[in-house]
Amino acid sequence: MDDFDQIKHLVLQQLNRCVVCHRDYEYGDITSVQRKPGVWTLMVECEQCHSRNYIAAVTNDGNPEDAMLEVRSLTQKAMRDLARHTSPDTEELVSEAPTSGERVTAVDVLEMHDFLKDFDGDFSKLFRSS
Ligand SMILES: [Zn+2]
Repeated sequence: MDDFDQIKHLVLQQLNRCVVCHRDYEYGDITSVQRKPGVWTLMVECEQCHSRNYIAAVTNDGNPEDAMLEVRSLTQKAMRDLARHTSPDTEELVSEAPTSGERVTAVDVLEMHDFLKDFDGDFSKLFRSS
């Protein structure tokens, strides 16, 4: 089992399933966004409804076995808001608000919005300040 498999295992332990459509996540849903010493950024995209979660895995000395995971959820609305500032071709994402399960609160969405706006890839700095 290599590092990426270990991280994916940890992510699946924490996330289990899609909060929007409740589909069980699979290893193949997880992609590595960026890896830096001590911090590994991952994205989990639901194959069924294409909702996305960004995961910051904070590793101790690059050891994924001791990784702390920070899960950041993006609602479809937040996705559209973000897309407006980036590219128009995500417009096809259909807004279907989840009716059950864990809801992403408005505060979370705002935090994510601010977070992405100012995000420079340094998750460790973010976690030190919280
Ligand atoms: Zn889903």
